[in-house]
Amino acid sequence: MGKLTLRLIKYFIGIISFVSIVCFLASSIFLSFIYTNMQYSELKTASNKIYEAISAGNEDSDIILEYQIANAFILKDGKVSSIGSGRKNNMPMMRNNNFSNLSEKGKYRNPMEGEFLYYKNSTDIGDIILFRNNRFSVEYMKSTYIILSLIFSIAVIISIPIVSMLGKRITKPILKLQKASLDITKGNFNIDVDVNTKDEIQELSKSLKIMAMAIEKKSVMQRDFIANVSHDFKTPLSVIRNYSEAIYDDILEEKDEKEYLKGIMQEVDRLNILVMDILQLSKLQGGTDILRKEYFNLADFLSDLESAFKIQIQIQNKNIHLNIEILNSTLEILADRNYLYRVVYNFIDNAIKFSNEDGIIELSCVESEKEIKICVKDDGIGIEDSYIDDIWQRYYKNKKSGGMGIGLAICSEILRLHDFKYGVISNVGKGSEFFFVVPKVQG
Ligand code: ADP
Repeated sequence: MGKLTLRLIKYFIGIISFVSIVCFLASSIFLSFIYTNMQYSELKTASNKIYEAISAGNEDSDIILEYQIANAFILKDGKVSSIGSGRKNNMPMMRNNNFSNLSEKGKYRNPMEGEFLYYKNSTDIGDIILFRNNRFSVEYMKSTYIILSLIFSIAVIISIPIVSMLGKRITKPILKLQKASLDITKGNFNIDVDVNTKDEIQELSKSLKIMAMAIEKKSVMQRDFIANVSHDFKTPLSVIRNYSEAIYDDILEEKDEKEYLKGIMQEVDRLNILVMDILQLSKLQGGTDILRKEYFNLADFLSDLESAFKIQIQIQNKNIHLNIEILNSTLEILADRNYLYRVVYNFIDNAIKFSNEDGIIELSCVESEKEIKICVKDDGIGIEDSYIDDIWQRYYKNKKSGGMGIGLAICSEILRLHDFKYGVISNVGKGSEFFFVVPKVQG
């Protein structure tokens, strides 16, 4: 039997026991109270009827029989006399007692005949005192307890198989999910989590499926990243190896030697950038208190980028036009200038990479009441809807990118650390617009 089933049985028996104890207590308190009061009221009715009969000169013992009265007395001027001829001397002990001390109603214990309930009705013909055996009440309570005990035992006997069946129904999907999660840890992402319980367990199975898909995607990306890194490192390393070998072997003319050395330096720079990017991303992802925020002029900041890119575009040999549109030259923003430079630089760099010949790239600032939206728009190849959310992920890259798929992951981390909203709107074949939103500096 599963642990969950055992726990369910324990809970169930606990609840049944609790309910039974409450029933026992309630019945012994309330039932006996109600029952005893019913008896007193019957005795009162009987005493009234006896009074009426005696007043009418008819001492009728039928009333005594009808109301199951054990003994009936009249107490007048300290003298006790029995009512009903057939019952005389039934309770000799009682007759000797001082009945005048009795209150209106109560219990009376006779050592010979057990417990009685009595009712004393004070009338003009004397105190009519009626006694009824309390045995009925005790027996009634006893039978109530027996019935309750039986119900409790039957409930426990029936509940154990029912609860264990229920427990199995609950544990079965849980065991299925447990197996699925173990499969995931072993790298098997094609898991069977079809659970149709229409409850939280079904929700959990859906989450597990989503998690498996996310981990699978991540692990594929990680694999690709290692392949990419190896590839991206291999090419420059072999260039460096071959060039240095040629120089070392002295087989080059002096002017070629210079070209080869320049080639080696370029490859080393490429490798350096790659390593720095990887380090920067892990620093951004893992660290806090990285940003050094300062107030600076947005127009100056964007002009710096413009000059940097004029040279870049010439280098890439693409006839691309970079237009910068700044309407308000006094705007100040609060951000880490170097990191934000990296973001806009990356956006423009990508825009150039994915633009066609003669493309136009627009860098603009849209000012609203509380925010400034900075956009980099190109008319290049665009991004397909199916992977537009993935581009911000580490290692995601277009086959033609030539990069490592780290640039936008770094941008995303920087903007996230700044708490700036950001995103991209894109149409395949028409172009993309990357943007982020900076809150306006107040005052
Ligand atoms: P990479 O340096 O490899 O390009 P990024 O993280 O900068 O990596 O970009 C990830 C991917 O996002 C790119 O490979 C490309 O598929 C897509 N992308 C980014 N910017 C653009 C753009 N302006 N136009 C089309 N695709 C883009």
